[in-house]
Amino acid sequence: MTVFTHPEFDHHEHLTFCCDPETGLRAIIAVHNTSRGPALGGCRMYPYASDEEALTDVLRLSRGMTYKSALANLDLGGGKSVIIGDPRQHKTEALLESMGRFLEQLGGLYIAAEDSGTSVADLQVMGRKTSNVAGISERPGFDGRPSNGDPSPATAWGTFVGINAAVKHKLGRSDLEGLNVAVQGIGNVGYRLARHLKEAGAKLWVYDVHQDQMDRAVAELGATPATADEILYLPVDVVAPCAMGAVLNDHSIRKLQATIVAGAANNQLATPAHDQALFERGVLYAPDFVINAGGIIDVCYERKGPDPQAVRKHVDSIANTLEEIFQRSDRDGLPTGQIADQLAEERFRHKSR
Ligand code: NAD
Repeated sequence: MTVFTHPEFDHHEHLTFCCDPETGLRAIIAVHNTSRGPALGGCRMYPYASDEEALTDVLRLSRGMTYKSALANLDLGGGKSVIIGDPRQHKTEALLESMGRFLEQLGGLYIAAEDSGTSVADLQVMGRKTSNVAGISERPGFDGRPSNGDPSPATAWGTFVGINAAVKHKLGRSDLEGLNVAVQGIGNVGYRLARHLKEAGAKLWVYDVHQDQMDRAVAELGATPATADEILYLPVDVVAPCAMGAVLNDHSIRKLQATIVAGAANNQLATPAHDQALFERGVLYAPDFVINAGGIIDVCYERKGPDPQAVRKHVDSIANTLEEIFQRSDRDGLPTGQIADQLAEERFRHKSR
């Protein structure tokens, strides 16, 4: 396994390989860049097929967090951690506490939050051994409702304001009344997003692999159920991917009928080249790491001290960042993902330069 010559290595500042035979913990913590502040990012638990796969994931994800936090104007750097193992089989309190001890050893350089395979409760267990965990405390949510630390409501709201910005830019409309939107994945973020869209007067099409989620969206939001094969290709105005990554690929981009793609899912582009492919087809793509930053903004304020109004204002500013990206994209004739990267790099000190 290579590190410094690894294709995903991008002058990461720190890499920590954590091993505790007593609890079975094997984890990697990657700190990409701390020029804006301590690195904050999720701790993912996943049954990686190899150490190499885990390393690739943590290098790529930690770099992404630097860009996301810089574009969200947060005083945070980028980091991520991965625990190698099946969360359903291998997760124990002892293992999580052991992870907490490794986080503590880094002295605040990296702060872990929940991610796929870890929950608020898991982070609380790690928190017995360190204060370098986030997204764990009950507090007033940004919308005034009580929050248990779950960032999904803020992510959904940020995605909603981002869709509004995209619609305004592409379609010249400042409301969503009668707008047709297809939402792929109606889980924690997707369902809340769908509710905001419905309240704004949009017409919804939904698909989720879980039938009960579909039934709920149909019953409560009046959404039209779609199939797995059609959800991305319906003749709608906006497609909002809110499930898994890599949904924007050669095949799907050719078949898209919507002129806007704006959703919360991470890593929607199968490869960076698909940014260009969307641009060439005239589809306005809201870069995922910009539009889905509501959650990290919310988590960041937990550490600063709860201030629901400030969180709301900050999450709302996602619309301004997207508008800046869309305008630069038009001006420079470059795809929006590339512009977002450039804008982020203007906001943090890149160690390779
Ligand atoms: P979730 O697990 O609650 O919801 C995902 C939903 O997608 C589930 O209902 C699942 O059944 C469904 N799904 C899975 N595969 C599908 C498929 N092939 N087609 C259609 N539906 C499918 O997760 P979430 O927290 O809502 O996150 C959704 C996406 O947003 C993820 O990509 C996540 O990484 C990203 N994201 C979430 C947050 C957050 O605050 N939760 C923040 C940033 C990014």
